[in-house]
Amino acid sequence: MEPIFRDDAYCRSCTATVLSAGAEGIGLDRTVFYPMGGGQPGDTGVLRWAGGEARIADTRKGEGHDEVVHVPAEGADLPEPGTKVEAEIDWERRHRLMRMHSCLHLLCAVVTGDVTGGAVGDGKGRLDFNLPDTSLDKDHIAAELNRLIAEDHEVRPRWITDKELEASPQLVRTMSVQPPKGAGKVRLLEIGGVDLQPCGGTHVRRTGEIGPVRIGKIENKGRQNRRVNILFAD
Ligand SMILES: [Zn+2]
Repeated sequence: MEPIFRDDAYCRSCTATVLSAGAEGIGLDRTVFYPMGGGQPGDTGVLRWAGGEARIADTRKGEGHDEVVHVPAEGADLPEPGTKVEAEIDWERRHRLMRMHSCLHLLCAVVTGDVTGGAVGDGKGRLDFNLPDTSLDKDHIAAELNRLIAEDHEVRPRWITDKELEASPQLVRTMSVQPPKGAGKVRLLEIGGVDLQPCGGTHVRRTGEIGPVRIGKIENKGRQNRRVNILFAD
């Protein structure tokens, strides 16, 4: 399976051949649909073929390496294996997820402390930090985040070997999410001069594309956990 979303997060549609199709999921030989993982939700969208189409309600990881399961909406028509389809994601939703996901990388650079959990939502996001006996300054975090966004830093993926990652364990900020590994290499997400960590998700090309954000509630989740909620300002 060719994961087009990994090399080109801006690719909205592709042609593909159906490998398998059932009510629980449709498998393709290549796809632009990102499967839920690393705190980012799976894509929604549509598959179209001659004489039919199927709404895709969710995308999940399959059993094998790089397998992606396109979950059809209830009652959707299913294409036969071998059918050529056009696979198109709901781009506006995905772009909001890319903006918020990229913003959470910046939050890692602003707030020190190990990340113990997190989630990207549509228009909102949150990270939990292991910060015993620390109170966080909401205005300071908002100002720093918006500064990094406005500085319009370049965002780009690069690959290193498993061995190089083992030699630099400080790169892994997130205790709850294992970095995407396989075939001896690991994908890193680099925001020039700001943040570098393993990540398999989809991101914007430059931080300016995130747009202004504001900090929602900062919650105490247990003695050590501080949950920082982020929203788009618009
Ligand atoms: Zn990421």
